[in-house]
Amino acid sequence: MKSMTCRELGGPCDTDLHGETADEIIKAQDRHLRESVHSGDTDHVPAHEEMKKRWKHPIKAMGWYNDTKKAFAALP
Ligand SMILES: [Zn+2]
Repeated sequence: MKSMTCRELGGPCDTDLHGETADEIIKAQDRHLRESVHSGDTDHVPAHEEMKKRWKHPIKAMGWYNDTKKAFAALP
């Protein structure tokens, strides 16, 4: 189990997110952004919009996705 912060994944806070794989941690971030926005946190709105765009334009998002996978793989 590795962890990355919301900030490392493009978000605004230092909440730790956990996952066994990069895909899991990206999903955890997606969930965290959605929950934050739904609970009325406006700081997370831009990152949430970015994340939604990534799902709509997966090809364009590949750079971000690959960077995140590399950062995840480099973790101890
Ligand atoms: Zn956050």
